[in-house]
Amino acid sequence: MNTRLLQQVLERCQQKGVRLTSQRQQVLELIWQQKGSSTAYELLDKLKINEPQAKPPTVYRALEFLLEQGFIHRVESTNSFVSCCFFGEHSHEHKHFSHLLICDQCGDVSELQDEALVALLTKNIDLHGFKLTNHVIETHGTCKNCV
Ligand SMILES: [Zn+2]
Ligand SMILES: [Zn+2]
Repeated sequence: MNTRLLQQVLERCQQKGVRLTSQRQQVLELIWQQKGSSTAYELLDKLKINEPQAKPPTVYRALEFLLEQGFIHRVESTNSFVSCCFFGEHSHEHKHFSHLLICDQCGDVSELQDEALVALLTKNIDLHGFKLTNHVIETHGTCKNCV
């Protein structure tokens, strides 16, 4: 388990006055343990080992909370969830732009952040008077371990 990361998460929750319940923490730790992304049902199966009474809404509510706090990202194209590698670096409320490289062979997900790309995207979005709700860009391919 990643104690340093958990400490950052706890501090962030304290700053915002929100509570990391045991179930929310367990779901987050399960996402951290997974190398690639996890679906809600994979998380539910693992959560049930410690929380046999857990139901799909238990997991969905925890995921919603973790998304809201910026601790994880939703991968729309595979309907799954990954941890955010950069949440500790973002003190502002605004959700950051995330670029995910998704390997279709092993399921590994790498998160990138390129300030130049973010600046360009933000500029184009503003030019269109567009209001953004999803800040995740997903690209699929084969990672260097699977080529
Ligand atoms: Zn992120
Ligand atoms: Zn791969």
